[in-house]
Parts: sequence; structure tokens; C-alpha cells
Amino acid sequence: MSNFLESVNRNFDRAAKLSGLPEGLLNQIKTCNSVYRMSFPVKINGDIEIIEAYRVQHSQHRNPTKGGIRFSQKVDQEEVMALATLMTYKCAIVDVPFGGAKGGVAISPREYTPEQLEAITRRYTVELIRKNFIGPGIDVPAPDYGTGAREMSWIMDTFSQMKVGEINAMGCVTGKPVTQGGIRGREEATGRGVYYATREMCSKEEDMKALGLTPGIKGKRIAVQGLGNVGSFAASICQEEGGAKIICIAEYEGCIVNEDGIDVKALVEYKKQNKTILGFPGTTTTPSRKDVLTLDCDILIPAALESQIRIDNADQVKAKIIVEAANGPITADAEEILIKKGVLIIPDMYANAGGVTVSYFEWLKNLSHVRFGRLQKRNEQAALMRLVNLVESTTGQPISEAQKNFLTKGADEIDLVRSGLEETMISSFNQIYDIWKSDDNVTDMRTAAFLNALKKVSSDYLAMGIFP
Ligand code: GLU
Repeated sequence: MSNFLESVNRNFDRAAKLSGLPEGLLNQIKTCNSVYRMSFPVKINGDIEIIEAYRVQHSQHRNPTKGGIRFSQKVDQEEVMALATLMTYKCAIVDVPFGGAKGGVAISPREYTPEQLEAITRRYTVELIRKNFIGPGIDVPAPDYGTGAREMSWIMDTFSQMKVGEINAMGCVTGKPVTQGGIRGREEATGRGVYYATREMCSKEEDMKALGLTPGIKGKRIAVQGLGNVGSFAASICQEEGGAKIICIAEYEGCIVNEDGIDVKALVEYKKQNKTILGFPGTTTTPSRKDVLTLDCDILIPAALESQIRIDNADQVKAKIIVEAANGPITADAEEILIKKGVLIIPDMYANAGGVTVSYFEWLKNLSHVRFGRLQKRNEQAALMRLVNLVESTTGQPISEAQKNFLTKGADEIDLVRSGLEETMISSFNQIYDIWKSDDNVTDMRTAAFLNALKKVSSDYLAMGIFP
């Protein structure tokens, strides 16, 4: 079994022992319900290429199932199974009413032109439709490593073309461009969720004291592995809204450091222009791109791929807190070493759940066929204006136009999405934190997160019973 799937299962088993749930039920929860492995031909430069791809639905205790589609050379069946499994727990943790799923196409997107990627994406979608593995009430993909809004748009178009008259066709996929039924705030959502998770953890005075840190995210020295969608938003929001110092960023081509802090937005622009992060003004390059993992810092945010912190480098990790923005960046063996060292790990299934949370909002928007805020914004503004005018007339104190506009601003879609995401990340953090702190057998936050997920998924299965 791959290291990744084995790690997910080992983590599950650790929590399962503490759950008090019957073994049969635990096995039912742990198993991947459906694995669809496909091979299909695509014409590339006049030649036929066979593409290998997967879609795994881990659990249908809630429908539809949900999870991203990954384009990567490393994709194989066990990786997709591990990722689908994590999606079930992730959705349960943030109270998103979906089962877990994941898709993968074993290609390196860099090696294809946009036209070729479109052909591959559309053919993959057709394969999913053929086997009834996609639909707003069946299984709803989203972006993941190597895919983004562009691919989601192709998926939606292919689905709509083949399901003429399906009124909810837009809800067959999330993470779409805003002009194509997407929602404002989805692109930044995973990174923003990572920020809320980090901020909540850092606000716990006692835990910070135990790590030798002051409370609050402000001024914390953060190292980030990966400047893709998740890493770039997590880093820039921690910097701009949290006041943290991003001292190190690593990408595929290398790792750059500046103890005074790296301007993340400027770096993202620099990377767009130069196709590399190396040479960004004010930074030095370390000998290896893996140095980010063992650098002296307060918080390490791995935001790239799985199995980055392993038995061979776990001992050298100097970070006091690791926030798993990627899925499965720490192997189970490495985790044992880190826990012994006293490193606090905020687990992936909670830390990076912001993406699926806002996907849920997008799906709701698609099913309701109306933008959030459209009906109530002006009405709210008018009610607030009446209140402000009343304050002005009763106190006799004039309120300036600028102040009035500020005080009466109604919520736009982006405000509602961010507020819904923040609320979700805070209340899920509190649920996990309470489980962690109220039971001495629960020694780490991942086990607490698993227990929380197990409680919710098992109660669904128990209430539903088993269909003949
Ligand atoms: N691929 C993301 C994840 O791993 C998002 C999934 C979704 O939005 O459905 O959580």
C-alpha cells in the first residue's frame, strides 16, 4: 500500500480505537465505496495517447459526493483513494453535507497545450457522465492540484451539452469562473481557511505558552512550501490580515528566504513575469528546495503535495506548529516523531477545508439560481440608513456622508462568503478543540478531528440503517 493511503488509514485506526464504535461500522466508514478506473484515447499532435484516470467515491452517507480533480503525473489509484477518504472526513468536520470523493488524471499538465488539456478534460467528463459519476445530485468535482477554474468551466460545458434541459447543470462542478456560475471568494477560499485555522490556534494562550510562543498570529515567523493557489493565498492573507512574517517560500525550482519578511503579492507578480521565484529582490536562495521543511520558524505551512515530511527529515523539523494546507503532507511515521518532539499539527482535514466549504456555497448558489446578497442587500442598507438617520436626529450630531455609507453598507456576495467561511472555520475549530482538551486519551489534534468526523458520519449510518 502507498505511504499516503497507509498513513490515512493508520490515522483513522488511531482515532477509531477511541471512538467506541462497533468494528463493522468502522469498517464501513473506512472503505472506499466505488472506484472507477478508466483509460481513454485522446489525439495529441495527430497521435493517439492513452490517458489513465480515476474517480473514487469514498462514502455516500450524504449525497452528492464531493472532491477535487487532480492532474498530476503521480496520480494512481491509491493516491485518489486516500484523497477521497480525506474528503469524507473533511466535509463532516466543516458540516458540509456531502460524502467524500476525488478524481485524478495521470498527466503532467505542463506537457500539454491548453487545447490538448481541454480535449483531455472534456473526454474525462464524458467518461464520468457515461458511468453516472458526475451530476449536481451525484458527484460534484472541483479544482485540485494541477487544475483550476478553466478546467471546471470545460467540465460544466461538457456536462450541460450532454444533459440538455438539466436545470441544475451548473451545480455539477464547483470552482468555476465567476462568469460561469462560480462564486466570489472560491479561489482564495482554501488559503483563507488556512489563515482562519492558524489564527484560531494561535489565539489559544495556554497552547502557545506551552510551545514557547506568544499568543496571536501577529509577528509569527512563517515558512510556506508551495506558491500555488493554496500557498499563495494562505501566505498573503496571513501577512496582510494577520500581520505574520513570511520568512521563507519554496517552490519546485528552489527555496527563498528573507528574515525581514517576503512581500507575497509582489512575489506572485514576480513569479508570473519570471516563471520562477528565485532571484526575488531581498531574498537569498537556500541549497535545496526541501530546506523550507527544516528551517527555523514558528509555523510551517506545507501547501504542496503529500508525504513531504517523512521519517528521514521529521527529526530536523524546527517549526513549533505545522498547518497542513496540503492533503497528507506528513506521513504517519513522521507524525509520531513530530508529536514526541512536541510539534503542534493542525490537520489537513480541518486546515484546508475552506475550499470545500466555499464549494458548498457555490453549489447552493447554483441550485438557487441567484447570487447571494442580490435580494436583501438594498433592503438591509435602507433599514440601516433609517437607523443612522434616527441616531442623527435624536442626538443632533451630524453624521458625515462617508460615515453613513460605511455604517449602512449591505453585504455583497464576497462579504457573505467570507463571513460564512470564517464562521465555519471558527465553529469547527471549537468542536475539535473541545474534543482534544476534554479527553486525556486524545493527545493530538488530528485524532480529535477524526473523532469529530467519525461521530458525525457514524450517526448518519446508524440513523439510516442498511439498505437491503
Ligand atoms: N480539492 C479541494 C480539496 O481537496 C476542494 C474540494 C472541493 O471543493 O470539492 O479539499
